[in-house]
Amino acid sequence: MNRLIEPKVRGCICTTAHPAGCAQNVHEQIKYVTNHAPIASGPKKVLVIGASTGYGLASRIVAAFGARAQTIGIFFERAANDKRTASAGWYHAAAFEQAAHQAGLYAKSINGDAFSDAIKQEAIALIKQDWGGAVDLVIYSLASPRRTHPRTGISFTSALKPIGAPYSNKTIDIISGHLLNVCIEPAIPKEVVDTVAVMGGEDWIMWIEAFLKESLLAKAAQTIAYTYLGPKLTDPIYSKGTIGEAKKDLVAASKILQQRLFPINGSAFISVNKALVTQASAAIPVVPLYISLLYKIMKAKKLHEGCIEQMYRLYADRLYRQDGKVPVDAQGLIRIDDWEIREDVQQAVSELWSKVDDKNVATLTDFVGYRHEFYKLFGFKIEGVDYTQTQMVEVPIPSLNVPK
Ligand code: NAD
Repeated sequence: MNRLIEPKVRGCICTTAHPAGCAQNVHEQIKYVTNHAPIASGPKKVLVIGASTGYGLASRIVAAFGARAQTIGIFFERAANDKRTASAGWYHAAAFEQAAHQAGLYAKSINGDAFSDAIKQEAIALIKQDWGGAVDLVIYSLASPRRTHPRTGISFTSALKPIGAPYSNKTIDIISGHLLNVCIEPAIPKEVVDTVAVMGGEDWIMWIEAFLKESLLAKAAQTIAYTYLGPKLTDPIYSKGTIGEAKKDLVAASKILQQRLFPINGSAFISVNKALVTQASAAIPVVPLYISLLYKIMKAKKLHEGCIEQMYRLYADRLYRQDGKVPVDAQGLIRIDDWEIREDVQQAVSELWSKVDDKNVATLTDFVGYRHEFYKLFGFKIEGVDYTQTQMVEVPIPSLNVPK
């Protein structure tokens, strides 16, 4: 069906997405990668779990267009129907596959619940059939509000809350740009447990164990998951909140996986990434105001990066360096949040944080940049896209439309 598509924002998400705008997002990221040096010793067969938006999409693009890797992407996205556009991730995946195929690169996708046994089995069957194993990188980049446990059938919903005491602070309405005060009540113990069940490391372990059991991993294969630590400012709602508990569990999972991968000389890493505008981060209270200030400072200092710049640096300067070493901090974590947490950056952000109010928000923050990035996540307000033209909302993802 052909129609004009406009953004429809509800709370912190946009319920429509623009196919041409989303395709442009993907093409811009591909261009960034192809304009940089190839990742000479990069991976060759890469599975990305959470491959359609944010950090996972950028990871897939760097693997394919930076290292010429074959990629399988897993995601949970909505196709278009009579009433609705597809989700942004659907359009991204379609544009990615088309571009990869045009560049002569193998790229297939699986759309479904990565937490389920059925999707794990589908991925295993596809890898056996097409690659015969030999996966050398598994990227785990899921951000989900809920998970149904594959063994017990119990459904968990994550909560983004502080632990132990209520948390009050300023935040920003991501559409109007007005500052608001929020007070978030602390999580009850069940909410902490549930958030760990959704965003912790159990499912990552299940994926890697399933692959080890089927001997699908290459010698010296690597797996990596992403976390965020951030500044003291966001500690109560992030690092010391429910999501922080889940991320500690993810870090613990990386240690377990490191042992499991020992017999094949493999490695499990956690990369601490920068705070960026994604669908997942827009939902965390206070974080959008922090990001608006952070962008202002990092752009002024010419340190600003988006997902694609971060992921390119992860591959080129951390995972696949010429010297074969993977630099980590004292806790064994890869740090590509290094520029965000620089003392001068954090000092400047906290000075602005104490001053920012409803009158000066437009000048002290890069809220305009934040909102632009937010619309861009869904393919809107992108230069070069003609939004007065009608769009075909049904866009096929090539590998999902042919018999496997
Ligand atoms: P995102 O919302 O942009 O992407 C989430 C991806 O997960 C999408 O591809 C989506 O389709 C997929 N997904 C969600 N539920 C799924 C399911 N049940 N089955 C299959 N696929 C599913 O998220 P993001 O911000 O890129 O976050 C990815 C990771 O990076 C998370 O671990 C997050 O904590 C971490 N991280 C994010 C930031 C940030 O500022 N955005 C910073 C540091 C680390």
